[in-house]
Order: sequence, then C-alpha cells, then structure tokens
Amino acid sequence: MIRRRQSKTVRVDRLLIGGQAPVVIQSMNNTDTRNVEATLSQIRQLADAGCALTRVAIPDLEAAEALAKIRRESPLPIVADIHFDYRLALAAIESGADKIRINPGNIGGADRIRQVAESAREHGIPIRVGVNSGSISRAVLDRYQGVNARSMVASVIEAVTMLEAVQFTDLVISVKASDPLLTIESYRLLADKTDYPFHVGVTEAGTRYEGVIRSSVGIGTLLAEGIGDTIRVSLTADPVEEVRAARTILRSLNLMSGGPQVISCPTCGRTEVDLQSIAEEVENRLQAYDRPIKVAVMGCAVNGPGEARHADVGIAGGKGEFLIFSRGDILCKVPQSEAVEALMTEIDKIILQKDNRRSNDE
Ligand code: SF4
Repeated sequence: MIRRRQSKTVRVDRLLIGGQAPVVIQSMNNTDTRNVEATLSQIRQLADAGCALTRVAIPDLEAAEALAKIRRESPLPIVADIHFDYRLALAAIESGADKIRINPGNIGGADRIRQVAESAREHGIPIRVGVNSGSISRAVLDRYQGVNARSMVASVIEAVTMLEAVQFTDLVISVKASDPLLTIESYRLLADKTDYPFHVGVTEAGTRYEGVIRSSVGIGTLLAEGIGDTIRVSLTADPVEEVRAARTILRSLNLMSGGPQVISCPTCGRTEVDLQSIAEEVENRLQAYDRPIKVAVMGCAVNGPGEARHADVGIAGGKGEFLIFSRGDILCKVPQSEAVEALMTEIDKIILQKDNRRSNDE
C-alpha cells in the first residue's frame, strides 16, 4: 500500500488535486490554440482516453481569446500555459481558464505577479508554479552552483514566496527536470518543505519509447513514495499516448482502479503463433474499454493456461491455434485468425455479467 503524502487540496473546476483525491491524469494539447476546432477535437480525444485535465499554450492574445470559445465546449477543465507576458495570464483568466501555469521567474516583477494573483483569486482559480531545470534564475544558479535539486527547490520556493506575499495560496507546484534522477531528488527535497499539492512529471522526456520509460522511472518512483497529486507524461508524440502511459503507470501502482489489464508473455522458442500482433491488437481494442477486466494473452501451453486461468479471460497458443479460457475453464479451440474476435466476444460477455451482477447487488 502506498501512503500518500499529506498535501492541501486545490480545486480545478470540478476536479480536486491533492489531499486524498485520486491522482489526476493531465496532458497538454499540441494543437495551435488559435485553431479552436482542432484544439477541441484533440481535447475530446484526450477525454475519451481518460485524461482529466488538459493544458493549452497561450503564446499571444489571439490564443487567449480563442480559449474562451474552447472552454465553452470543452469536456475537460483547461489550464492556460503562460510564459513571459503577464497580460496573457490576465487575458486567459478572463477567457475562463480553470487554472493557469506560470513561471514567476519569467513573468515580470512583483507588481505583475500580484496582478495575476489578484485576478486568479477573483475568478477562484488556482495557479501552478512550474519551475523547470532550464528556467532557474541566474542568481539562484550562482547561489547553488548550477542546476541541482537544491537550486530547483530554491527557485520554486522563491516563486511561491512571491505569491504568498500577496496572500495567494491556491497553488500547485512542480519542479520538473529532463533527468529522472534530478526530478526525483528535487521532489523529495520539496516534499520536506511544503504541503502544496505537486504536479509531477519528467519534462522533455523524449519520444514514445524513451519518454515513456524515463517518465515511468521518474513519476513511478515518486508515486511509489506517495509523492504526486497530478501527473503528466511529457512525450514527443500524440498527447493521447501520454494519457495511455499515465494510466498504465497509475494502474501499475494500484493508484487507479478500473479499466482492462492485459498480461502477455514475452514469447520464446516454443511460440508457434504470431503472439505479438495478437497482443497488440487486443491491447488496442481494449483502449476503448473502461471496465476492470484481466486478460491474458499467452504464447503456449507451458505457462499459458496457468496464467490464462488466473485472468478473467485468456488465450493460450498452440500450433497456429489458440485455446480460449474464461474464468479458469477452457471454452474452445480456435484458429489464430479467429483468436482476437473469440477473445473479444468472451471479454464482452464477462463485462456484461459483471455489470448485471453489480446492478442486481444495488
Ligand atoms: S508462455 Fe510459453 S511461449 Fe510464452 S514465454 Fe512462456 S513458455 Fe514461451
């Protein structure tokens, strides 16, 4: 069991971040925010994939104005991502942003930060103070001899102190680095110093392969220690992939229930079916499912039936064919070409049975 760090709770529209609220999955649109239709379409895809909160870039006033139209139709609350110009933060808040992300180090002096904080307070929205390893001020870098956990934490504490000085405490904070070890060390150090909720991620983590691994190491380690209230997996990929990865990280740590879990064997010299393509197809088709179900896709009869029996439903390969299992019983044998359909049919049956049982219990 993971013991979550005790943090304050912050409300973002209908979502709670921090305290004992479930860890919130977030992502960031990579569409041009000025393109309202494209941005809304991607937000809908993110919502369908299981994202709870998304962020959009606000590079200019046109984007800030477009946010008002996007927000009206968005199925998800939206964070406005602001750099360099406090007027964009003010405009995004007026457009209905549910939260804003700023780096106080590049937003201007104390007076500009105060104006942003006052506007956020009037609109009842929180601010994320996000410091990255690349955005630490020269003075802090000199004081702590470069980029390290101490300079990351000092930088974010400095920013938080500026906001607290104007009595703004509706905050979420982050100290992301592209190096997972630096990220882990920074959040651990920060966890000893504050009880604001944490947005956790490894920034600029990389492509779908590298990025998922680096993020899983960084985010997963912190979550296993109870650190992290909302997560973003940053990938150079379709943001829907970020959400898929985030869900898998949370499920791996039992921080998220529900949804399908696919167990598949690594294949070996005994495999006499094309297990890789079958496992991938099953996993892809199950992306559309949100009910909890454990599915085993196994290559042969050595370990296959054993694992398949412990799952709700499973298949175990033979010579160009598969045995289909459901709840520990062998149901039938099908040729490889029919295996996915046969498995999906059994999955649908089990889900229906579970739903019926639940509604009878209620
Ligand atoms: S289940 Fe069978 S095919 Fe798969 S790795 Fe184990 S022994 Fe090999």
